[in-house]
Amino acid sequence: MQNTSRTIVVLGTGGTIAGTAADAADNVGYTAAQLGVEALVKAVPALAGLPLECEQVAQADSKDMGFAVWRALAQRTAHHLARDDVAGVVITHGTDTLEETAYLLQRVLAPAKPVVMTAAMRPATSMQADGPQNLLDAVTVAGVPGAQGVLVVLAGTLHAAAGVRKAHTYRVDAFSSSDAGPLGVVEEGAVTAWRAWPQGEALGLQWLPMEADAWPQVEIVTSHAGASGALVRAACEIGVQGLVVAATGNGTVHAALEAALLEAQDQGVTVWRSSRCGNGRVLARPDDMLPSAGALTPAQARVELILQLLTPSV
Ligand code: ASP
Repeated sequence: MQNTSRTIVVLGTGGTIAGTAADAADNVGYTAAQLGVEALVKAVPALAGLPLECEQVAQADSKDMGFAVWRALAQRTAHHLARDDVAGVVITHGTDTLEETAYLLQRVLAPAKPVVMTAAMRPATSMQADGPQNLLDAVTVAGVPGAQGVLVVLAGTLHAAAGVRKAHTYRVDAFSSSDAGPLGVVEEGAVTAWRAWPQGEALGLQWLPMEADAWPQVEIVTSHAGASGALVRAACEIGVQGLVVAATGNGTVHAALEAALLEAQDQGVTVWRSSRCGNGRVLARPDDMLPSAGALTPAQARVELILQLLTPSV
C-alpha cells in the first residue's frame, strides 16, 4: 500500500461488488447493488485509517447503466479530481458495462490524476468474494505518485480504459486488454506498470447533456448467418443517429445487412464497423464503404460514436 496523506475518494455505483446472496456458495443467484460504498470500504480492514471519503453516486446493476448515471458519475468524478487535497478517485462498478463507463470517463475527463475503476465477479456474501481485494488494489493504485488516466483493476491486473473488455462470463479474472495487453499488475500491495499511464485530451464534461433523452441514439446491430436489414430499417424509422455493426471477422457484413446499413448511411445515419470477434482490430481499407471502428469493442465504439455526435466541432 502506498503512503498517501492526500484523500482518495471512493464513488459507489452498485454492481456485484455490492451484491448479496442468501447462500454464501451461490455465485450467480444474487442481487447486485445491495450494499453501500461505506460498507464495502469497512469490509476491508487494510483500508481502516486511510484518508478515504465515500460517496454513493448510484446504486445499480450495471447491466442497466444509462446516460443519467454516466452524467452524474462524470460530474462527481471531475468535481473531486479538481480538489487539491485529492490524490485520486476510485469507482466501484458492475462488471457488465464497466468497459463502456471506463471508456466514456477517459474520453470526457482524460484525468491527470488516477481514476481507478474496480468491480467483482462474486457478490460480497460469497465464500470467494473478490471485491475486498479488488477494492484494496484500486485504492493502492489511486495512491501511486504519477499515476493518471482512467484505469481498471480486477484480479491483480491493471488495464487502461481504452481497449479493456469483459472477456469471461464467470472467472474472477474476467477482464482483458486484448492485443495491447494489461497496463500492469498489483501484487501484495506493489503496483508495477509495464506501459505508460493513459493520456489524452479531455473532450470536457460540458458536452454531456443533463437530460438522458438529449443524448444521441446509437444502436448496435450484429452481423450473422441469415442476417437481414430489418432491424436497421426499423432503427432508421425511429430516427436513430448512429449505428455500430458488430461485424464478423475483420469487419465483414452479411450482404443483406450491409445493403440496409448503406441505405442508413445515405440517409445521414453514421455507421461504423467493429468486430464481434472479441479480439483484434478491423483493418481499414481505402475502398471501405462503411468506416472501421478500429480496435474498439462494439460497446466502446458506440460510446465513441455518441461522443463524436455530441462534439461535432471538437
Ligand atoms: N450484473 C452485474 C453488474 O454489472 C455483474 C457484475 O457486477 O459482475 O452490475
